[in-house]
Amino acid sequence: MLRNRNLSEIETLNDNIDFAANLQAVRSEIADAAQAANRDPASVTLVAVGKAHPAERSRAVLDAGQRVFGENRVQEAEGKWPALKEAFPDTQLHLIGPLQTNKVRQAMALFDVIETIDRPKLAMAIAREMDRSGRRPDCLIQINTGNENQKAGVAPEDADAFIRQCVEELELPVCGLMCIPPVDDEPSLHFALLREIARRHNLPWLSMGMSADYQVAIAFGATHVRVGTAIFGTRPPR
Ligand SMILES: *Cc1c(COP(=O)(O)O)cnc(C)c1O
Repeated sequence: MLRNRNLSEIETLNDNIDFAANLQAVRSEIADAAQAANRDPASVTLVAVGKAHPAERSRAVLDAGQRVFGENRVQEAEGKWPALKEAFPDTQLHLIGPLQTNKVRQAMALFDVIETIDRPKLAMAIAREMDRSGRRPDCLIQINTGNENQKAGVAPEDADAFIRQCVEELELPVCGLMCIPPVDDEPSLHFALLREIARRHNLPWLSMGMSADYQVAIAFGATHVRVGTAIFGTRPPR
């Protein structure tokens, strides 16, 4: 009964969420999607996105065995994660929201992966902080595949030059690319574009796919899917 529940069914469970069951359901759908694409399920990392939910929920998901998490705000993550990381030291925390240069130091002290590098000023601040602190979180470059004004990410036409700058000039440990497709578009076009840009630069990681489209993303080669609602339920208002 865990399988194939749709999002609205999961949302109705919000008052009494069975995090272990949600996690199990998402994991088994990841495995199915990977097998359908002739991929090893272990090649897809589930990033559980607990943003806007209280810390107890992340703890419940940790208790259910999940160890890779995403947060989109530095300040919120600082309130939640130091204690959780102390309790579960093998946790990997990904920053998946926009990063301001004045928060780079805090972000790099807490996060293990920065997924949202998208402009030279930020890339330079991260490179400086790496030199200063000696900490080198894995880096992903966010591509604004839909060229949306309101969305973060480097424009696709600027991606090649920016990736080269990050890798060659700033020597950031760039592992791959990340995107958030426009809500009303067919996501597969965006996943295919991200995959193509990554291929040109030999970048192995593709962070793409959320609750509504992670199976599609896996068909297009996602190595990291960022799933919030399907695990944590509907986000409470901020
Ligand atoms: C919130 C968020 C997610 C998770 O979204 P769901 O639709 O709840 O799975 C994934 N990626 C990013 C960048 C997010 O901000």
